[in-house]
Amino acid sequence: MTAEIEFRGQFRATALGALQPANWYMGFRCQACHETFAVLDDLTGAGEIEPMGTGTFDVVCPACSAPNRFQAGDMIVFQAATARAGQDVQSGT
Ligand SMILES: [Zn+2]
Repeated sequence: MTAEIEFRGQFRATALGALQPANWYMGFRCQACHETFAVLDDLTGAGEIEPMGTGTFDVVCPACSAPNRFQAGDMIVFQAATARAGQDVQSGT
């Protein structure tokens, strides 16, 4: 069962900071650096939500600080990673 969420009008969104691993979020992919960031919690908690509508979102990328403008249809629903990349344990020398 997929829930639909409709956005209308213009939003000025702020990227969420720390994401809870395994939680679902709604966000965008930066048009400049292609990093994915979240702006909203997924209200279904299961990734079963479909953003729609004619709304636009102005969001500054938290990774590269590029100002982005997205359409509601650009919104992606994703699950936060359960492990952090780039934190490999050093094994010996
Ligand atoms: Zn970026």
